[in-house]
Amino acid sequence: MYRGKSITELRELLDKKEITGEELFEKAITLAHFFQDDYNSFVTILEQTKVKESDSMLNGIPYSLKDNFSTRGILTTSSSNILKDYVPVYDATVYKKLKKAGALLVGKTVLDELAMGGTGTTGHTGVVKNPWDKERMIGGSSAGSAASVALGIVPFSIGSDTGDSVRKPAAFGGIVGFKPTYGRISRYGLFAFASSLDHVAIMTRNVKDAAIVTDVLKGKDPLDMVTIESEKENYADMLDQEVKGKKLFYIKEVCGKNIYQTSEDAMLKETIQKFHETLEECKKLGFTIEEVSVEKALLEALYPAYMCISCAEATSNNANLTGVQFGTRKEGNTVEEMMLHTRTEGFSELIKRRFVLGSYILQKENQEKLFLNACRVRRMIVDQINTFFQTYDGMIAPCSGGVAPSFDSTSEKLSDRYLILENHMVIGNFGGFPSITIPYGMIQNLPIGLNITGRVKEDAQVLNMAYQIEKITGMKNIYAKVGDIDV
Ligand code: GLN
Repeated sequence: MYRGKSITELRELLDKKEITGEELFEKAITLAHFFQDDYNSFVTILEQTKVKESDSMLNGIPYSLKDNFSTRGILTTSSSNILKDYVPVYDATVYKKLKKAGALLVGKTVLDELAMGGTGTTGHTGVVKNPWDKERMIGGSSAGSAASVALGIVPFSIGSDTGDSVRKPAAFGGIVGFKPTYGRISRYGLFAFASSLDHVAIMTRNVKDAAIVTDVLKGKDPLDMVTIESEKENYADMLDQEVKGKKLFYIKEVCGKNIYQTSEDAMLKETIQKFHETLEECKKLGFTIEEVSVEKALLEALYPAYMCISCAEATSNNANLTGVQFGTRKEGNTVEEMMLHTRTEGFSELIKRRFVLGSYILQKENQEKLFLNACRVRRMIVDQINTFFQTYDGMIAPCSGGVAPSFDSTSEKLSDRYLILENHMVIGNFGGFPSITIPYGMIQNLPIGLNITGRVKEDAQVLNMAYQIEKITGMKNIYAKVGDIDV
């Protein structure tokens, strides 16, 4: 039985020669096709593979890749109409490294168009559904990646995380989502969204697997200037360290025990209660956990600051999508007209809205008030968190105020919950902090996620803390056992 097995388990089967990489690939694509109509994880499912010799932990292991990573000769759409026929001529560094390791690409996964969004509903090939409940979204933007791991099709997937795009869908899918330190993994060949916030991030079904994949991908790359030198040691070998004496904090205004007491949202209250129960369990492991307070106005500025910075950067980064060099070109009598038609027809309304915002924010007369102020908010919050990190080893929080939303859910977007609790993981992107999400419980048969964020470059520490907490959640290696298929 292949489905739902972790990297570590598959490694053992491969090493014992009980199965071959080719066979694993065949099983993975069988599952991918089987679930495609119902869940829509993939833009492209590959047909064949070539297993090569390598002594990597990932040799012969199937995986999926978000469709905003360049893959030479393989359609790469970023789930946008403007790139619906685009076949890149070069490989992203992560794809190159995975190929070299002998990992087997099963398919390219659906995202929210150009990675902008958090619902998994805006890709040009349709909506991605949550394997735990088809009436619900899996979240985004790495929606298909999350679904492909949560369905047990592949043991790992590579996504991108600019605001929380790996960690949030991981939480809604009951899997692990790890965003390492900014610069730990090369972004060369990842379609840039907001370069000061963009990270390559990883989805797996347990923490050790996330460490294994990070080990293969980490390292300096001359093709991405922000990459940093990494430790020679494997993170996977640095797990299982004692956590006695490690100190964590949570922010009262994000997830304090009583702050949502007057809310009528029962789901929110249950999530916060479960979070505090889990904190008690963590204390038994040896963690010290304390509450800290951050000025609410600063937390309420997180989302607007994120939107200002990310839309401004996205507008500039995506200015190359004109139909001139690449992409789906539309007709026009002049070059300007051609570009206008290409962009008008190529982007959905949501994307255009972000580009209009971005252009407005970058206009000379607005820059000081909007863009630079947003950068100041970013600096203030990062300074604040770094001050806490002088005392504490990590920050802990629930990933969301509840389970995955249903497709027809309407939310009161200006409530505390939506401004702060649903957006706090962007702190990890603002500061470039390593940040991991692990499942920590179920509410109404749907998974909820716990987030741990640590000091810059302390990826090993964050992985280790999550590895210890994973042991008490009873949620390691879970996947949605839906569908009548035995593979
Ligand atoms: N949901 C956020 C947004 O819409 C995050 C996206 C991301 O991390 N790629 O911008």
